[in-house]
Formats: sequence, C-alpha cells, structure tokens
Amino acid sequence: MTQLDEKLEPIMAEVFRRNAAEPEFHQAVREVLESLGRVIAKRPDYADDALIERICEPERQIIFRVPWTDDKGQVRINRGFRVQFNSALGPYKGGIRFHPSVNVGIIKFLGFEQTFKNALTGLPIGGGKGGSDFDPKGRSDAEIMRFCQSFMTELSRHLGEYTDVPAGDIGVGGREIGYMFGQYKRLTNRYEAGVLTGKGLSYGGSRARKEATGYGNTYFVDSMLATKGTSFDGKRVVVSGSGNVAIYTMEKVMSLGGRIVACSDSNGYIVDENGIDLDLVKEIKEVRRERISEYARLRGTGSHYIAGGSIWDVPCDVAMPSATQNELTGKDAKALVQNGVIAVGEGANMPSTPDAIRIFQEAGVMFAPGKAANAGGVATSALEMQQNASRDSWTFEQTEARLETIMRNIHDTCAATADEYGAPGDYVLGANIAGFVRVAEAMRALGVI
Ligand code: GLU
Repeated sequence: MTQLDEKLEPIMAEVFRRNAAEPEFHQAVREVLESLGRVIAKRPDYADDALIERICEPERQIIFRVPWTDDKGQVRINRGFRVQFNSALGPYKGGIRFHPSVNVGIIKFLGFEQTFKNALTGLPIGGGKGGSDFDPKGRSDAEIMRFCQSFMTELSRHLGEYTDVPAGDIGVGGREIGYMFGQYKRLTNRYEAGVLTGKGLSYGGSRARKEATGYGNTYFVDSMLATKGTSFDGKRVVVSGSGNVAIYTMEKVMSLGGRIVACSDSNGYIVDENGIDLDLVKEIKEVRRERISEYARLRGTGSHYIAGGSIWDVPCDVAMPSATQNELTGKDAKALVQNGVIAVGEGANMPSTPDAIRIFQEAGVMFAPGKAANAGGVATSALEMQQNASRDSWTFEQTEARLETIMRNIHDTCAATADEYGAPGDYVLGANIAGFVRVAEAMRALGVI
C-alpha cells in the first residue's frame, strides 16, 4: 500500500471511523486518496475547507424496507438502498443493483466511484447508486415485477429528472427498468421519461445504451493499445462475466479482430479456443436466462466448462474483467502477468483488488481502471436524458459515434493528467485526479455544500 500524504491520513482515519465495517468503501476511498497526494503537493488549496472530507461523505443515504409477496403467497422482506453521493455536477446518477451481497457499504463504494466516473464523462451528472439485497435468481417474471413495484413505491419519492436518475446495474436490466418506470408513472401521474435510463426503445430508451458499457470499455482499451502502436487485431481476449457488460464487450472486441477465448458466470467459466460463439451466449443469457455451463453442453466439441476455478488462469493478451468487485486478486494478476497479458480494461466496478493493480502496474501492464474504462454506460445514460429532454430519438450510429468520442476523450484526459502529475501511463492516477478536480472545482464554486 502506498503511504498517504500526512494531510490525507486523518481523512482516511475518519472515513474508517464513520463507516465501520464497510471494506469496499474504504478500499475505493483509499485508492482515490493515494492519488490525491500529488494533487495537494501541487495545489495545497484543494485540501482547504474540508473539501476532500466533504467529497468522501455522501450527501444523503436512504435505507428502506421492501415487502413483497412471492408466487406461493408468502410475504418476504428485502432491504432497499439509495446513496445520493454528490450532486455538484448534476442530478445524482447511477445504477440500481439487485444482488444478495448488497449492503450499505457496497452501495456507498459504488456511489463514490460513480461520482468520479460521471465527472470524467464531462457530462452534467452527479453521482449516486442504489439497490437491494434481493436475489433475482430463479424468480418468476411476476415475482420480479412485484418486487420492482414495491421497491419503486418507496424510492419514487426521492427521484426526479432534476433530482436523481437511476439506471440498471447487476441484476437490473431492461425488464426491471420497465417495471420500475411503469410504477413511477402510476405513482406520480407524470410521463417523466428522464427519471430513469436504460429504458426500452418502445418507451423512451436510447439506442446503443444496452451496448454502451462494453463498447465503451473496448474503445478505451483500443485507445490505450494504440499508444503502444498495437490494437485488438489478432489478440486473445478473456472477458469475465456474461451479463450485459461482458456480452457487448465481446461483440465489439470481435468486430475489431480480437478472439474471445473465455467468459464466465458466478458458478464457473467456459473456454472455447475457436472463439466464443456470441449468439449462443446471448441466447443462453438474454433469452433463456440460464447458467453459462449450458454453453459447453450446447456447443459441444472444442469448448469446455470449468466449475469454480479462476478464469484468469486462461492465457490471454488482454483481460477485461466485467463481472463484479474484487473478482481479480493478486494471485490472478500474477497468473495473467506470467502468461504474458499486455493490457487490462475494467468493465465492472472495482473488479481488481489493490494488490492486483499493483502487480499489473509494476509489471508494466497497461491498466484501465473501471471508473474511466466503464464510463460508457453512464455516459450513454446522459445521452438518453438529453434525448428525453428534447423529445428526440437518435439513430444507433449517431449515438454510438457520441459514445466513441466520449470514451476516446476520457482516455486522452486520463493519459494527459497522468503526464501532468509526473506518472506517465498511470491511468489510475490520471482518472482519480481528473475526476476529483472536476468535482472539486464545481463544489468550491457552489460554496460550503
Ligand atoms: N451501473 C452503471 C455504472 O456502473 C450505469 C449507471 C447509469 O447508467 O446511470 O456506471
């Protein structure tokens, strides 16, 4: 672990004290504070007026009960969360996650990351995140709908197109956003399209939103590879996960000439040396909603499924972790480095542990942190808000072109910031500092908020 600047040490200590037993939140804050040492060395005024302390403290945290009835008529209870982290740059913006691991610390880390990520897009969106410890696995459509309606019944009072605009995340896709939007509309008697993003195309969604996070990460890594005079063409690529982010990462990487050899779900991973058949993955995950093990069964020869284990043992040139936080450990990073990985692009939020990041950077592996590389999803959400506000609907090509420009700009901003602060090629430092400076400037202009 890097030593913190003496002005930053007490800030970290206070974050520990005030947010006890929230290790993911501590990890996310620590990583940003490690980068800020160089900022306050150059600009000591950024440490004034408790500016950094204020940025580490959410503006508002909402925790609520979500009662719902399952298909057998049994009443069940889950816990709902929305952490409205920072609104200096715009309405709170960030996804909703439904997963049994969700707790306030997880939502807080995600909201904190989201604040800097959203700042990096250059678009007018603040940071927030929400979710529930509800497990959608094995639940019927009707159960999902009742859960979403109950969740929105409470959450609705905290939302608004100028206040807080959720979207999807793990366990929340087009179906769930539809049910939540339907309930919000009933409760408010307003067709406020801009209150949620990731909507379906039939009721105000944006083209390319579904593809945006995966495509965006691919554009970012492509820009990073270009700085070393190379590209995805002919590269072996491993993408963890098989959800929305992973599927559209694979699609874009393939279109740029990369060969995807493995992907996974929380039970295990599949390897297909001939290159993953993406249509089959889409059929299994998006239509049948089944486990990835089905792939090996349906595809037959040439592919195999490994239960448990680590997908990062599969040799590759480029690794794109697109499943969940802390899925890639120091041990995994060592295996990847040994197998000759040259670049890592984080599609998920904080998928690499601090140890893993250190190992990559020490080995000279190009490393794109999630808060920069996976910003394409939320950036396209902001484009969806623009389309809703102007009652317009753009073509796929137009929207994707905006996404590509945004991602290449984020790449260039991170690279230039790393250069400016004396750490060329350190995208972690570049992303943390560039994101921080944007939020800090806006907060200062708004007085003590
Ligand atoms: N959940 C996504 C993220 O982590 C998207 C958020 C959004 O579109 O608001 O950035």
